Amino acid sequence: MSGPTLDAIVVGSGPNGLAAAITLARAGRSVHVYEAASTIGGGTRTAELTLPGFRHDVCSTILPLTLASPFFRSIDLAAHGVEIVQPDAPLAHALDGGRAALLERSVAATAEGLGPDGPAWRRLFGPLVADADKLGTELLRPVAHLPRHPIALTRFGLPALLPATALARLAFRGEEARALFAGLAAHSMVDLNRPLSASFGLVLGLYGHAAGWPMIRGGASGIATALAAELRGLGGTIETDRPIGSLDELSPARVIVLDTSPRAAIAIAGTRLPDRTRRIYERFRYGSGVFKVDWALDGPIPWRADGLRRAATVHLGGTVGEVAAAEREVARGGHPERPFVLCVQYAPWDDTRAPSGKTTAWAYCHVPARSTVDMTARIETQVERFAPGFRDRILARSTRSPADMEAYDANYVGGDINAGVEDIRQLLFRPGPLRDPYWTGALGLYLCSSSTPPGGGVHGMSGYLAARSALRREWKRRV
Ligand SMILES: Cc1cc2nc3c(=O)[nH]c(=O)nc-3n(C[C@H](O)[C@H](O)[C@H](O)COP(=O)(O)OP(=O)(O)OC[C@H]3O[C@@H](n4cnc5c(N)ncnc54)[C@H](O)[C@@H]3O)c2cc1C
Repeated sequence: MSGPTLDAIVVGSGPNGLAAAITLARAGRSVHVYEAASTIGGGTRTAELTLPGFRHDVCSTILPLTLASPFFRSIDLAAHGVEIVQPDAPLAHALDGGRAALLERSVAATAEGLGPDGPAWRRLFGPLVADADKLGTELLRPVAHLPRHPIALTRFGLPALLPATALARLAFRGEEARALFAGLAAHSMVDLNRPLSASFGLVLGLYGHAAGWPMIRGGASGIATALAAELRGLGGTIETDRPIGSLDELSPARVIVLDTSPRAAIAIAGTRLPDRTRRIYERFRYGSGVFKVDWALDGPIPWRADGLRRAATVHLGGTVGEVAAAEREVARGGHPERPFVLCVQYAPWDDTRAPSGKTTAWAYCHVPARSTVDMTARIETQVERFAPGFRDRILARSTRSPADMEAYDANYVGGDINAGVEDIRQLLFRPGPLRDPYWTGALGLYLCSSSTPPGGGVHGMSGYLAARSALRREWKRRV
């Protein structure tokens, strides 16, 4: 395709693609974004998936990383009409017998709720939260970098090296604190008996205390709308319904930034990709998938434990042993009868999601990549276990298998919502052992999706850092 020469083209309008485009546009570059789908936003879209008037976040809802992200701090979200809603508590973990363990905003309040394990929670998270600002800049960058805050990072890094199950059992004695920590770590989608799986529990707990686990009133699509408005304000342009299969389809541009998986990058770049990078991208491993259910509900979820009504995110999976067994089974290719379920409810914090008196909620569980097993009944049984009468409130449901996830957004290869497994190797070297993880090694060609550091989540940092790398290399410009 021919046309006027642009400074930069971004393929994909997820939060990382738009962050890259904004960073380039802020440096005075002309930027055009191509998006395969008919709407922008990647993992930040909201749609009526069940009944008219019932709005569901198709992917992300809970956005601690957005608040913690240095890139997002440079965007005035409020000026773009984004209203951030903080539920009473960041997270609740359901236990049998009508019990709940709660992650509160303050370490002290969390410790108080955990009884005899309170002092241990304070010892583990107190110093991390005190260092939150320093750690924020260290954790949302490539792991393999020269630290600016080595003491804070060492304090975080030592317990982070452990398997999550080991840290839970070493640090705590009671079921509540152990289960709460295991649920946090289980977001990693890796076997919780593997070294470094504790790091996810520490990072997500830290952000829960330091930033909260908020949602966007009206839907996560508010994030994409805000980023698009910011970009357009800088002169950037966006085109939807334009899946890009090859660089040959693009107008001439000095820089091309791909918000895609490494697998798609191989296909798009073709022979322009250096052999070494191609081999690294080919070896990149994708993780487990997710099976998601969105519900239109006749009213709020009837939790047995009051504590479960205080957080938008509720973990359903019982004790640390149960959570770890479920995640281990998935890692080994199985489908647990009692899966670890991540459930998100909007009531009572956001009444814009459904007609008056009604509400929406969603839940997903981890499954092996490309699984075709329908987990709806198992997920709903887990909700019913802690909220008897839940099924009677379901007006309609929409389900998504790993294959549906990938068809919806090609970055979620095999249903992997992090676009690449986040185990030791791929935490340290993501997408592989490259000196600059964002540069493909080909003149002007960059990768900026969550397959690059710091990995999954709505933080925009991969896009921001990839654009910075491009500005430095192609225009000798420091940001
Ligand atoms: C079910 C689910 C729940 C989640 N929950 C949370 C959460 O609560 N909090 C959180 O922080 N994160 C969550 N995430 C993860 C988060 O959504 C992603 O990590 C994040 O969106 C990644 O951003 P990205 O820009 O790298 O990629 P994406 O957001 O995946 O965007 C990539 C975009 O590129 C487009 N694209 C891909 N290939 C091409 C091509 N060849 N041509 C043109 N366009 C292309 C895609 O259509 C897509 O729009 C969730 C994800 C899922 C699926």
